[in-house]
Amino acid sequence: MEICTIGGYEEVGKNMTAVKVGEDVIIFDAGIFLPPLVELQEQEAQIHYSENMLRNIKAIPNDLVLDKLGWTDKVRAIIIGHAHLDHVGGLPYLAHRYPKAEIIASPFTMAVLDSILQDEKINLRNKKRIVHENTVHQIKGHSGNLKIEFINTTHSTIQCFFVAWHSSEGIFFYGLDFKFDNHPIMGLPPNYKRLKELGKDGIKCLVVDALYSDTDRRTASERIARNLLEDALGNIHDKDSALFVTTFSSHIARLKSIVEFAQKTNRRIVFLGRSLNKYVGAAIKVSQCSFRGKIELIKYRKQINSFLKKVEENRGKYFIVCTGHQGEKGSILDRIVQGETPFKFRNGDNLIFSSSVIPASVNINAREKLDNKLRRIGVRLQTDIHVSGHGGREDLRDLLEMLKPQNLIPAHGSLKQEAPLIDLAKEMGYKFQENSHLSSNGKVIKI
Ligand SMILES: [Zn+2]
Repeated sequence: MEICTIGGYEEVGKNMTAVKVGEDVIIFDAGIFLPPLVELQEQEAQIHYSENMLRNIKAIPNDLVLDKLGWTDKVRAIIIGHAHLDHVGGLPYLAHRYPKAEIIASPFTMAVLDSILQDEKINLRNKKRIVHENTVHQIKGHSGNLKIEFINTTHSTIQCFFVAWHSSEGIFFYGLDFKFDNHPIMGLPPNYKRLKELGKDGIKCLVVDALYSDTDRRTASERIARNLLEDALGNIHDKDSALFVTTFSSHIARLKSIVEFAQKTNRRIVFLGRSLNKYVGAAIKVSQCSFRGKIELIKYRKQINSFLKKVEENRGKYFIVCTGHQGEKGSILDRIVQGETPFKFRNGDNLIFSSSVIPASVNINAREKLDNKLRRIGVRLQTDIHVSGHGGREDLRDLLEMLKPQNLIPAHGSLKQEAPLIDLAKEMGYKFQENSHLSSNGKVIKI
């Protein structure tokens, strides 16, 4: 078994891993790295990216390494674990290089992919296969079928799964992204029973989300985020001020909680911005949006501007969910604060960030600037009304105890994020460079 750690092993983003057993290669995820694109994001004027441009700014994984290895023609499938852009966002620009590979994903992830393809006007010829959690599928390999299993887990978007390839050389287990949430707001709790069974069968190699492996915690349930939101919104009584909430567009469970509490304010609930439209639209398409009838969605800049004019004239009437929690240039919040819309924040207006700042300097700086401007106006800010979707050190310990992999490779971050998992593995009896491995982008690990 050979594992090529193509992307996401030196940064948080552009996750992509290829695994070769015999004459068959399977790719897991094909994400995008957002910081180089931040300037361009969320701009209502449509920008189409090209593969070359994205390669030049290093926003997509450098999968040309597979050409050098002679693996490209052997790729049988590209499996996407969940719908976040750092897992699916590179696929539209890369999949054409693997025309014989099937694209495999959950209904929601596939709907998000389709929506990106439509926006970007990209046609892919690859066969697509929609799979459900806790099922086993066969993929046609070089000499016989390849057996792939999808095991449901919890994270910060819906329909996320772990993937196990039952290969002739043992099980390869792809464990990105996850936290162990026993009380998810949507979907099932993680399938612990199956994880333990797989551990007994024997796992040859685990690649795992190590993003918060240095954090001494079991990440709290989404139920806690729901309580935080209830509290944050329950204490706003001013009927005449504006009320805005911003959160991750892909976090359908969070949006569900927001809408449920928003209903108690008797305001009209309106979602603004392209990325909210993309994810909520995908959730509607696959019947995962119970709040569909309770909201209005506005996508385009012109309509957003004329709507915001109404909000300016009657600020107590609306409950607005919008983009911009990372201070992204061109997002709704950024445009409001820059004075580019008919609505202006005033002293006493309310803004809730149901998010945390993604720890990259571009986000930290953008949010600091945004927050300072809002504070100067006198906007009442409530920040970090949020619980992460990534497991901490104790989630990881539980996963390792259940799976007992023979080998492990931390993923989803730079050395700083990945190295603490090597320490944890050492505590649990693993030996560095023998059966616990640190990788970097483009490297191949043979097991
Ligand atoms: Zn994710």
